[in-house]
Amino acid sequence: MSDCLFCEIAAGNIPADIVVEDEFVVAFRDIDPQAPTHVLVVPREHHNNVADLTRDNPELAARVLGVAAEVAQLETLEKGYRVVTNVGSDGGQSVNHVHFHVLGGRELAWPPG
Ligand code: AMP
Repeated sequence: MSDCLFCEIAAGNIPADIVVEDEFVVAFRDIDPQAPTHVLVVPREHHNNVADLTRDNPELAARVLGVAAEVAQLETLEKGYRVVTNVGSDGGQSVNHVHFHVLGGRELAWPPG
């Protein structure tokens, strides 16, 4: 989709610090990390949010979560980690291309606030 930051990153048109990628999914480091490991996992195909993704392409949703688990393994987050996806303005979503934050490397507060 034109004018979509994460479509542009997935296409290789905007540089990113890529951790792992395959034909369908790309994982790259967040530009403003909130934890020692903060990686964003996104499908290459554009979907606005997790509701759209799971409705329109549940197989792809499962692939994205599989890559999130792979990122945790690659980043050696054996003490645990968090996978978060924000939806809409109240949810804190600032980029309207579905993405899962993989956060770890320190003890994470709960509830998040
Ligand atoms: P959200 O607020 O849940 O939509 O998350 C969007 C995330 O994208 C934020 O954590 C931003 O720091 C991150 N972000 C924005 N621009 C870039 C970029 N060019 N490369 C990597 N991460 C980015």
